[in-house]
Amino acid sequence: MIIANHAHVFPREIKESGTIDRLKALMDECSIDKAVCFAPFPDRFVESGFPGDPNGWLASQLKGETDLYGFGVIDFDAPDLSGQVSRIKELGFKGIKMHPPYQEFRIDSPEAFEVYEQAQEEGLFITFHCGMHWHRLRDNLPVLYDEVAWNFPRLRFSLEHIGGYHFFNDALAVMCNNTRGGVQPRVFAGWTSVTDKDGPSEWSLTDEQLKTVIFQTGEDRSIFGLDFPYNSAEDIKADIARIQNMDISDTAKSNILCNTLKNILEI
Ligand SMILES: [Zn+2]
Repeated sequence: MIIANHAHVFPREIKESGTIDRLKALMDECSIDKAVCFAPFPDRFVESGFPGDPNGWLASQLKGETDLYGFGVIDFDAPDLSGQVSRIKELGFKGIKMHPPYQEFRIDSPEAFEVYEQAQEEGLFITFHCGMHWHRLRDNLPVLYDEVAWNFPRLRFSLEHIGGYHFFNDALAVMCNNTRGGVQPRVFAGWTSVTDKDGPSEWSLTDEQLKTVIFQTGEDRSIFGLDFPYNSAEDIKADIARIQNMDISDTAKSNILCNTLKNILEI
């Protein structure tokens, strides 16, 4: 059984390669049973003139879907951030996707803290992009996620890409630094787009680094992610095979590919 995090989905009018039907076809092809889908970031609706809001759109699309789970997004240009978090919960979503460099907010800003506070109250999981993404680095240095973990000890979140090629050690430090106190496990590693098969890209991690995550943080803090539609079915099959062939325990493998996210989503 494979349960995967991190699929970006879109209305056909905005991104034809990223529709929910395309995701379901890819899941079939890769033998993935269930997946978490993210609502599009609000600017994608604004720039394309697509009506409605991304969270409402995703909730309507997921009605009747038994194998897809939604994560909402925050609109930092709109008022009432904590109200937005509560609405995400009301829509039946299990978490929030946040992307500090793309959404251009500081990880430790008062606005972001308002979101974390309410997410902690509502029991929502946060999936963060963690690593460089062409925005000024000082606003989203991965070490700042330590502030999130310290200030919100009941909030669980994942660091997608585990800092990527440039910030892997920083992201791992945040994970290791928060293995005591609060809710445990609390900080998770998102094994998303970490392939190194075509050489070291911005998000590549080596097998040695991935094994170090397991060795230093344990077998229950790593979650496989798709980065659909930016990775093809071929890419994702290779990612799954890489985990299955890695020199780690069978328990670690089934946790990464299924059980850890299953527990978080309570499914
Ligand atoms: Zn993403």
